[in-house]
Amino acid sequence: MLSTTRQTPRQKRVSSLATARRDALVLAILIAAVVLLIWNGSLFFHEIQFVGDQQGEGVRVAWTALTLNVALILFGWRRYVDLQHESELRADSDARAIVMATTDPMTGLLNRKGFADKACELSSDGSSGERRLAIFSVQLNRFKGINDRFGFDVGDELLRRIAEGIIGVVDPDALVARLSGDEFAVACVQSSGDKREIERLGVSVLRSVTRAQTVDGKVIQVGAYVGIAMSDGGTIPIADLLRRADIALDRAKTAKAARPMWFDTGMERALLAHSEIEQGILLALEHKQFEPFFEPQVDLQTGAIVGFEVLARWRHPISGIISPDSFISVAEDMGVIGRLSEQVMHAAFSEAASWDPAIKISVNISPVQLTDPWLAEKIVRVLAETGFPATRLVVEITESSLFADIDQARAIVTSLKNQGIRLALDDFGTGFSSLSHLRTLPFDVIKIDRSFVATIDRDRESAAIVGAVATLATAIGVPVTVEGIEDAATHAAVLGMGCAVGQGWYFGKPMTAHQAAQLLRDRHSAPHPGNELPRFKAVG
Ligand code: C2E
Ligand code: MG
Ligand code: MG
Repeated sequence: MLSTTRQTPRQKRVSSLATARRDALVLAILIAAVVLLIWNGSLFFHEIQFVGDQQGEGVRVAWTALTLNVALILFGWRRYVDLQHESELRADSDARAIVMATTDPMTGLLNRKGFADKACELSSDGSSGERRLAIFSVQLNRFKGINDRFGFDVGDELLRRIAEGIIGVVDPDALVARLSGDEFAVACVQSSGDKREIERLGVSVLRSVTRAQTVDGKVIQVGAYVGIAMSDGGTIPIADLLRRADIALDRAKTAKAARPMWFDTGMERALLAHSEIEQGILLALEHKQFEPFFEPQVDLQTGAIVGFEVLARWRHPISGIISPDSFISVAEDMGVIGRLSEQVMHAAFSEAASWDPAIKISVNISPVQLTDPWLAEKIVRVLAETGFPATRLVVEITESSLFADIDQARAIVTSLKNQGIRLALDDFGTGFSSLSHLRTLPFDVIKIDRSFVATIDRDRESAAIVGAVATLATAIGVPVTVEGIEDAATHAAVLGMGCAVGQGWYFGKPMTAHQAAQLLRDRHSAPHPGNELPRFKAVG
C-alpha cells in the first residue's frame, strides 16, 4: 500500500532520541533517590540501632523502613514504565486515527481532508521565497463502466495502479490524493511559475492515468481529463484553488479535451452567469415571467393563418425579453422545464381559447419532458383548466426526444392522441432524421427544419432534400410545415415543391398574445381574408 503520510526517518530518529534521554533522566533520578535513601537509611539505622540497643526492637524497625522505601522506589519505576508504555500506545493509536482520517484506504493516497491540510502546509512553508502552488484535478472518464464490465476487484486494482502511476511521474515532495471514487488531485510547488513546465507535468499525469494496464489478464484503458490551477504566490485559499482546478476540469470534460485545461477567470465568470440564470429562472417561475409568444403558421396557397407556434420568452424586469436559447437548456438541467412549460402552456391556452376555433396552437415539448410518465395527464389538466379544446392542440417533439426512452414516448403520445391532440415531428432533417421514426409514432405533421429552407435558393442539395421530404410526406399522407421562410422567393420555392403550410419571418415574427389576437381580427376585417397578411414589427 502506498503511503504519503508516513514519518520521515529523521523524524523517527529525533523522537526515539528524545524518549531515550527522558528514560535516562528518570532512571538517574531514581538511582539518586535510592542512593540517598540508603545513605539516609544507614544514618537512621545507626541511630535506631543506638536507640534500639537502648530500647530494643530498633533494628527490625529500621530494616522494615528501608525495605519499604526500596519497594516504593521499585513500584514507582514499574509504574513509570507502564505509564510510558500506555502513552506510547495512545500516541500510536492517535497517529493511526489521524492517518485513517486523512488517507484513502484503497490506494494509501491522501483523501480530500488530508490533501487540503497538507496542501495548506505546503503553500505556507516559508522555506523558499515566493511559493506558487499548482493543483491538478484529474477525473477518470466512465470509470463506472470498468466496474460494471470487469467487476469491482479489477476496478480497485486499476485505481491502485493509477495511483502508483501518478506517484511515479510527480516530484517526491508533491502531494497526491484520491478525492472521490474516480477523482484524483496533485499539488506541487512551482517557484518559477513556469506554466509550460506545469503543463508538461499535467501531460505526464494524464498519460500515466490513461496508460493501458493489464489487470487480471485483461487489458484495460481508461480515459481522463485534467484541469490545472496555479496560485499567484499564496494569496488564494487552497479550497478556492482546488475549486478553480475543478472548474477547468469541467471545461476539459465539456470540450472533451485530450490535454490538460488551464483555469482562467472567464470560466469562473461563465459559471457565475450560469448560476445567476439558474437563480433567475427560479425567481421567474415564482413571478410568472415566462410568457408565450406566437409565430403565425400560414396556408402557403392562400396565405390564411391556420395556426400559431407557441415560443417561450422570458420577460426579465431588467434585461427585457430573453430568447429561449438562453434558458430552455438550463431549465432542463435544473429539472424545472416541466413547470416552465406548464406555465407557458397555461398562459397560451388561456389567451387562444377565445380566438377563431379553426386556429391550431402548437407547443414545443422538450426531450426531458418526454421522460415524465405524467406528461399527458399534465397537458390534459392545463387544457381542462383553460377550456382550450384538445383538438386544437398540436404537440411538437424532436427526433432526439425519441432516443431516451421510446416506449415511454410511445405511451405518452398514445395518451395524447386518445385525447384528440395532434403530433408534429419538429426540426426534421437535423439529428438522425430516420424515416423509421415516421413509422414509429403516429405523426400528423412533419416540420422541415429552417436550416434547409434558409439555403434553398443557393444550395441544390437543400432544395432536393426539402423536395424529397415533401414528396415522401405527401405519399404517406402526412402534411409538411416548412420553418424559416424569410422571403417571397423561398415562399414560392416551397410552394412549388408541394409544401402545404409554412412559417417564418416573411409571414410574421413571434409576437405577443395581444398582437396575435389583433392580427386575427385584422385578417377577418380585410377585404380578401387570408390573402393579405398584415406585417407586425419584430418583437422577439
Ligand atoms: P423551434 O421549435 O424549431 O422554433 C423555431 C425557432 O425558429 C424559433 O426560435 C423561431 O423564432 C425561429 N424562427 C422562425 N422563423 C424564422 C425565420 O424565418 N428565420 C429565423 N432566423 N428564425 C426563425 P426561438 O423562438 O428562439 O426558439 C428556439 C427553440 O427554442 C425552438 O425551436 C424550440 O426548440 C425551443 N423552444 C421555444 N419555446 C419553447 C418552449 O416553450 N418549450 C420548449 N421545450 N422549447 C421551446
Ligand atoms: Mg418547434
Ligand atoms: Mg423547429
